[in-house]
Amino acid sequence: MPKTVHIIGAGISGLAAAVRLGNADFKLHVHEATQQAGGRCRSYFDASTDLTIDNGNHLLLSGNRHAVAYARSIGTEAGLVGPKRAQFPFVDLETGQRWQIDLGDSRLPLWVFDEGRRVPDTSLRDYLALAPLIWAGQGRLVGDTIPCHGTLYQRLVQPLLLAALNVDPPEGSAGLAGAVVRETLLAGGEACRPLIARDGLSAVLVEPAIKLLQDKGAGIHFGHELREFAMSAGRVDALKFGGEDAIAIGADDAVIMAVPPRAAASLLPGLETPSKFRAIVNGHFRFDPPPGMPPILGVIGGTVEWLFAFPNRLSVTISNADRLVEMPREELAQAIWQDVCKAAGVAGDLPPWQIVRERRATFEATPEQNALRPGPVTAWKNLFLAGDWTDTGLPATIEGSVRSGNRAADLVLAMRQDRRLKGS
Ligand SMILES: Cc1cc2nc3c(=O)[nH]c(=O)nc-3n(C[C@H](O)[C@H](O)[C@H](O)COP(=O)(O)OP(=O)(O)OC[C@H]3O[C@@H](n4cnc5c(N)ncnc54)[C@H](O)[C@@H]3O)c2cc1C
Repeated sequence: MPKTVHIIGAGISGLAAAVRLGNADFKLHVHEATQQAGGRCRSYFDASTDLTIDNGNHLLLSGNRHAVAYARSIGTEAGLVGPKRAQFPFVDLETGQRWQIDLGDSRLPLWVFDEGRRVPDTSLRDYLALAPLIWAGQGRLVGDTIPCHGTLYQRLVQPLLLAALNVDPPEGSAGLAGAVVRETLLAGGEACRPLIARDGLSAVLVEPAIKLLQDKGAGIHFGHELREFAMSAGRVDALKFGGEDAIAIGADDAVIMAVPPRAAASLLPGLETPSKFRAIVNGHFRFDPPPGMPPILGVIGGTVEWLFAFPNRLSVTISNADRLVEMPREELAQAIWQDVCKAAGVAGDLPPWQIVRERRATFEATPEQNALRPGPVTAWKNLFLAGDWTDTGLPATIEGSVRSGNRAADLVLAMRQDRRLKGS
């Protein structure tokens, strides 16, 4: 029976694996290279705005059921907040037009039959033309599968798929886009309620998991970067963390590697992983949202794509943002603030701000890169992989991360079960 499980990486995938195994009475050690858990999903105190901010605004949908279950398992489901109905207000900055899509609260996408609830100036036929996405194969492009032009595309499909895939939708994987559509839009408004960790990503999705693991006696080791695996006889038998003795991995022990793809590829030479990435840019402004401002506003026709209203702060997300990575920070902050003013209907000089550019926010969700994602099983029988970039069938998302962590944990559980059956 595996007695100890070492989890490398304390991002959401590593934490999901740890929480699942912590509930199954394993002795756990989580090794995180940095001084903070959360990986690409974390909060920190920012001196420029004098606020605790997230590295990026993270949007979940109520249909992200594994992510929601993960929050429930660490006691923070109530920290994921959003409107009661799946309503998405939008503004077009070029025309000034504002509208709201109301997906309702049913389990079927009935809203497409109701002219008053669907995107203005669209017809039922436009929605039916999206159907091929639902069963598209992994190798196909979105651009070869559905119409990537017209009002419905510009006002709903493009913003949704851009946010989900983090690539310009036509170049994206139709298989990944189809998975998103099946689990959200096609599952009706009940699966599309937007959810935000209003009190911060770390407070809702990270710190409670660490606390729970510590309460169960897990060792959480920060500043503990795995440098090398030692393998023998088809299994990992030691972990090397530079500058100290190696940690021996016992005959019954297991390791889950939940690090990003570049780190994984260097730790396991020969492992095929996605190798191309796209940036996400977030702008945070210390500014009280005007009364009645929706918590999430879709923005068309500007640089900004989504505008989030938090207490004391307006924040924006820009996906597929490689074009903005080299732009001078102040210039970018000014450009974004202009969009924010128009979208939120506010005015004023640039308030205290912060720009966070995550250069390798997600792997490129193209068919080519999607084909490079490995499953959780490795050539070493006590080593399993987790991470949003493993083959989850979803783009790089919290939902995919949690699923990958759960899947790796289930393989460790199966290993224990197997040994029990064999009586060892
Ligand atoms: C700006 C931004 C916005 C996003 N928006 C959304 C969104 O709206 N909705 C959504 O669902 N998803 C969103 N995502 C994606 C989501 O954040 C990721 O899918 C998820 O956080 C990935 O988790 P992970 O555990 O797979 O990887 P990571 O978060 O990358 O975790 C890996 C961890 O491993 C550690 N590590 C690396 N090497 C080593 C080593 N050798 N030894 C020990 N530790 C190591 C790293 O420090 C890190 O903590 C966004 C991402 C970004 C960057």
